[in-house]
Amino acid sequence: MALIFKSGDELFDQGIDLVKRKEYAKARNNFRKTIEKGGKEKALAEMYVAIIDVVTSPNSPEAYDRLAGSLSAASGPFEFGLTEVDPGKAIVEARLVAERIRALGMDGNTDVKKAKGDKLLALAQKYQVQIGNNSLKIYEIINGDTSTTGLKEALLLQAIGYESLSSAVVFSDPKKAAELLQNAYNCRKQLGDGAGGDQDMKLISSYSKSAKCWICDRPSTGEGIHFLAMSSDITPFMRATNDDLLKSAPDSFQSIYVCRPCYTAISRKSDEIAKGYHDKAMAEMRAMEARLQAEIASIRSMAMMRR
Ligand SMILES: [Zn+2]
Repeated sequence: MALIFKSGDELFDQGIDLVKRKEYAKARNNFRKTIEKGGKEKALAEMYVAIIDVVTSPNSPEAYDRLAGSLSAASGPFEFGLTEVDPGKAIVEARLVAERIRALGMDGNTDVKKAKGDKLLALAQKYQVQIGNNSLKIYEIINGDTSTTGLKEALLLQAIGYESLSSAVVFSDPKKAAELLQNAYNCRKQLGDGAGGDQDMKLISSYSKSAKCWICDRPSTGEGIHFLAMSSDITPFMRATNDDLLKSAPDSFQSIYVCRPCYTAISRKSDEIAKGYHDKAMAEMRAMEARLQAEIASIRSMAMMRR
């Protein structure tokens, strides 16, 4: 059987067809071989490999870094499947997407949340200025999405940015946190994101809510953060309240509002008591097990002597 070796150029042309059929793994293989064999389209083959890596690993910031790097060698626009790629614009997009993935992946304490929020707001501005009302070609290549413009992406990043800043300040300043969430809500509303907007609204009303601790009588603002509802039984006699401004219980009268310091003091103490009971029960079980083992051993030795 005669083996037919294809030239780098043939492999490249075949790779282009494979891309059109969205057979990316095979296409990538062809382009890799084109690069190894040094076909005349070597530089373009490298760009194709980088684009395929972005399509197959759309959440990897490194793939976008490599794409931006390889596109800098482009001499002019070229086609990838059905999309015309303008290298200059694609480099800008790839850098922004890499930055976006890294920023969205930030997670940690309040300092990190604050840094993440600031980063996302700055990034949103870059999308506004550098992409504007143009659609993001990278998304068109990755999943056929032609509707996401730079401005749309900017709104989403602003929303997430304000939400992150809000979660960073809510423990020190719930009022400020609610204000920041109002900004996030406005962005989500412009995007037509009803579910995300509702989520912001729910938090805004929680953060803005004030209550008086049933136990220590201290006022606080921010339900779920600075005060919490604890299950309780409020008798009809107790339900009469003269306190209109700051209520100490939800309307259902099945729980009381307790400030976080009171709440954590109670829950830590009850954890401690529960752990005491648990340790005692375990110690008794181990003692019982030892007694049973000793009895089993003595029965065994009695049985042995009878043989
Ligand atoms: Zn309290």
